[in-house]
Amino acid sequence: MRAPLLDTSIRTRLTLAIGLLLALLIVVAALSFRGFQALSHSAHDLVDGKARLAFLADRANQHAQTAANHLLRLLLKPERDARVPLYAAMDEALNAGDRALMQLEKASAERELAGDIGNIRQLRNRYGELFQETVEQIELSGPQSAKRHFEAQTEPALKALLSATDRLATEQQDAMQADVVRLTADAANAQQQITVIALLAIVVGALLAGLIARSIVNPVNEAADIAKSIAGGDYRREIPLGRRDEIGSMLHALSTMREQIAQREAHISRIAYFDELTKLPNRTRFFEDFAKLENTTGAILLLDVDRFSAINKALGHSIGDSLLRGVADRLRSVLGEHDVLARLWGDEFALLLSNADRATALNAGERIRTVLRAPITIADQRLDLDASIGIAFFPGDGLNLTELFRRADTALRTAKRRHSGVALAVHEVEETAPEQLSLIGEMREALADAQFVVFYQPKMDLRTRRITGAEALIRWRHPVRGLVPPGKFIPFAEQTGFIREITPWLLENVICEIAQWVRQGLELVVSANLSTHDLLNAELIKLVVSVLQKEQLASSALCLEITESALMDEPERALQHLDQLAARGIKLAIDDYGSGQASLAYLKDLPVHELKIDRVFVTDVDTTPKNAAIVRSTALLCRELDLIVVAEGAERAEEIEWLANNGCDLVQGYGVAKPMPAEEFVSWVRRFNDLESPSPYPSGNTHA
Ligand code: C2E
Ligand code: CA
Ligand code: CA
Repeated sequence: MRAPLLDTSIRTRLTLAIGLLLALLIVVAALSFRGFQALSHSAHDLVDGKARLAFLADRANQHAQTAANHLLRLLLKPERDARVPLYAAMDEALNAGDRALMQLEKASAERELAGDIGNIRQLRNRYGELFQETVEQIELSGPQSAKRHFEAQTEPALKALLSATDRLATEQQDAMQADVVRLTADAANAQQQITVIALLAIVVGALLAGLIARSIVNPVNEAADIAKSIAGGDYRREIPLGRRDEIGSMLHALSTMREQIAQREAHISRIAYFDELTKLPNRTRFFEDFAKLENTTGAILLLDVDRFSAINKALGHSIGDSLLRGVADRLRSVLGEHDVLARLWGDEFALLLSNADRATALNAGERIRTVLRAPITIADQRLDLDASIGIAFFPGDGLNLTELFRRADTALRTAKRRHSGVALAVHEVEETAPEQLSLIGEMREALADAQFVVFYQPKMDLRTRRITGAEALIRWRHPVRGLVPPGKFIPFAEQTGFIREITPWLLENVICEIAQWVRQGLELVVSANLSTHDLLNAELIKLVVSVLQKEQLASSALCLEITESALMDEPERALQHLDQLAARGIKLAIDDYGSGQASLAYLKDLPVHELKIDRVFVTDVDTTPKNAAIVRSTALLCRELDLIVVAEGAERAEEIEWLANNGCDLVQGYGVAKPMPAEEFVSWVRRFNDLESPSPYPSGNTHA
């Protein structure tokens, strides 16, 4: 419960306190004033009343006595002439006594002394009469008789008068004494009262000052603390808003200020961290959210709306903006609770999926494409949307977002080029840039110095158990590094475009070699690998045709292996070239089948003769039901499509037997032989085919 004092304003509180103190001061002043007045009144009474009365009584007394003395002296003057001047002095004394008595009567008029004064007046009159009689006796009967009269009558009357006036004076003096005592007591009393009230005023004043100071200082301190916490960015601290005084208004103002600061801060952070158009987090925010992840794996999906710039140009920016908003809304609808979606710029969006594996990321990519593909109507325009998505994984594809974005962006471009929708980031050769540059120079030298050599790996017909073909695989006999496998330089050559120089060299070499073998009576179908670049290179096709002609080699002795991904980059042009090659009788094979994402469906439109099942499905095919199912169904389908099935990478006899029993036509792998240099290969094949028991099948029955 709060003291009701806190509900009154500080101004009222101060006014009340000061008013109370003033009232106490006024009381002190009034009391002092009254005390002083009473004292002065008493003093006046003392001086003007009783003292004067005593004084006048005393004077009247003295004059009466003086007159009596003159009379006594008169009584002692027998001769009349000597008495005359004394009469004048005696009358003078009597008159003075009368004047004093009259003054006494006047002074005692308001006092309750009428009885005493009346008595004195009577005694005076009596004394006056007897005095006169004594005087008359002097003149009539002589001093002796007058003296007797005086002693008998006048003197007693004088004594009575003197004693009465004396009594009055004494009474007044006693009263005066009592008054002085009372006055002193009154003064002490008044002093005490004033002291008490003054002390009371001091105590009350101090108390009020303390209370008021506390009622102001405490909330001001609290307000200062709150202001400090606002400055520190903490907006949750409770502000007590119940007060109705000035502090209350100050706290109210503080609370309003805090709200507005919070609002403005939110606004600023909205501008800094959010994209105005779509209300999605922006690039900065995305980077910050990514930086907050700790020891997490996951995926970055980079998304780009297909044909957006064309739509923007054709229909205007406002429709473009609406489109981006529509895209953002659709993307939001597929977001998981912890996913972060941001618009990076233009029509590029990024999605952060923490803890996502390959399948989850691909699934998310497909879900996004599905929601985006539903037609969208903007300003009566029906638009068909699609998007391309590049996916990079962390930490595998990169530890920082810049690296991941770069990889995902490359994947995104691949997806766009191939019209495949989604593409995963691929690892480039793990070499640093300076090494790579020197590698290009080295490769050029290698070509000139004939450091590249071709190895051949045999392909065995599973029915005849004879070698009917081979795959040409390049090797680099590096003067320092030794024999470098193609995995270490072919991807780099593809990336840098140097493959354009390697493949023609290799094909020329291989065709010459096969032609020589034919001349030696060894007829084999030899495969060579083509990369994406080669497949899009029209010159290369011309070269192959011309070398075949020059060597007078049948086109069917050459098979070119292509991967699904090589086909994806520019499917139309690649297909055109494949058609040209097939039309000339050159055989074509799909390499590494199953490792990509494409389905078998597209195969029927390709002019291919052969399908090579990737090693991952062949390894342990005899013991792994899943691999077995894939290989078996692929073999069946190939039979339907009239394609030769080659199983790659069989290493064990059991695998080879399983493949023979499950519809595979040819096998290539360490289980038959490792790749060998040309001369070694020729003698090996001769030995193998001669040693093998004669085939139960006529050679024309083989697929090769
Ligand atoms: P690829 O076309 O799939 O070639 C088969 C690879 O599997 C060869 O590796 C071969 O040595 C290996 N191999 C065959 N049988 C087995 C087996 O039983 N077990 C194991 N573990 N491996 C087996 P290589 O020679 O290192 O070639 C690697 C890749 O380099 C090739 O894969 C091909 O894509 C590429 N390549 C090789 N030579 C050329 C070339 O002249 N031009 C182009 N463009 N690419 C080439
Ligand atoms: Ca191959
Ligand atoms: Ca292969």
